[in-house]
Amino acid sequence: MTSIPDLSGRVALVTGASRGIGYHLAKQLAAAGAHVIAVARTVGGLEELDDEIKAAGGSATLVPLDLTDMAGIDRLGGSIHQRWGKLDILVANAGVLGVIAPIGHVEAKVFDKVMAVNVTGTWRLIRSVDPLLRLSDAGRAIVISSGAAHSARAFWAPYAASKAAVEALARSWADETKNMALRVNIVDPGATRTAMRAQAMPGENPDTLPTPADVAASILRLASPSLTDTGRIWNVRKGGWTDYRQPE
Ligand code: NDP
Repeated sequence: MTSIPDLSGRVALVTGASRGIGYHLAKQLAAAGAHVIAVARTVGGLEELDDEIKAAGGSATLVPLDLTDMAGIDRLGGSIHQRWGKLDILVANAGVLGVIAPIGHVEAKVFDKVMAVNVTGTWRLIRSVDPLLRLSDAGRAIVISSGAAHSARAFWAPYAASKAAVEALARSWADETKNMALRVNIVDPGATRTAMRAQAMPGENPDTLPTPADVAASILRLASPSLTDTGRIWNVRKGGWTDYRQPE
């Protein structure tokens, strides 16, 4: 499998495409030939992405959408079906950190927001596009998680819980679809030079971290029509799979 797959004629949906890892994944998917449906709330970031994609000869559709808008997510699936009749690639990347604080100091509204975006929004999106991915001859779903889902990390409770939940969703989905063309995998990007990382670790020198473009380049292979793995975790830092639990 080459690391830059040929995605000509493929339709890819990327959430959290206005900045960070999602922005660069969207750009690289478009450069590999996919038409990118770019989702986020910040229109300016989406427009910047669109300009870059077009300048490189690619194409995108911008969808300003808040992933706590359940009806909006449902409508998105319907619109994609009407326009393209299928979806080939889903990158469920959008996420929020919430707050880094002792568990007893986390405000209820912050906890609820992290769960709403990272877990409920991701589930609802999966529900909306699962039938469309099944219509593709090589549906590929890439769910962006975090090492926090597995490592005990003081003060990261809401985010860690949300990422553990999203991995459980992805694993169940992968098992449901294991006999189909659809492949569902999880990504642990590792510390990456983005706004979220700066929020989590304000004292850190960002120049010591991999760029979101580098991280996106590692993830791109999971969109390849030739990929056979499913239900696994791609560890970007390692450049390989990390399987914490094997099926019994
Ligand atoms: P950024 O904060 O840079 O980007 C987050 C993206 O999510 C933005 O495009 C943002 O768009 C979007 N988003 C947030 N809330 C919503 C919402 N309610 N509705 C729609 N879109 C939303 O984060 P990163 O690029 O760093 O993170 C990307 C993914 O990688 C996340 O899932 C994160 O948990 C994960 N990750 C990141 C690591 C890192 O070190 N950076 C490490 C491990 C995992 P907008 O605000 O425009 O809506």
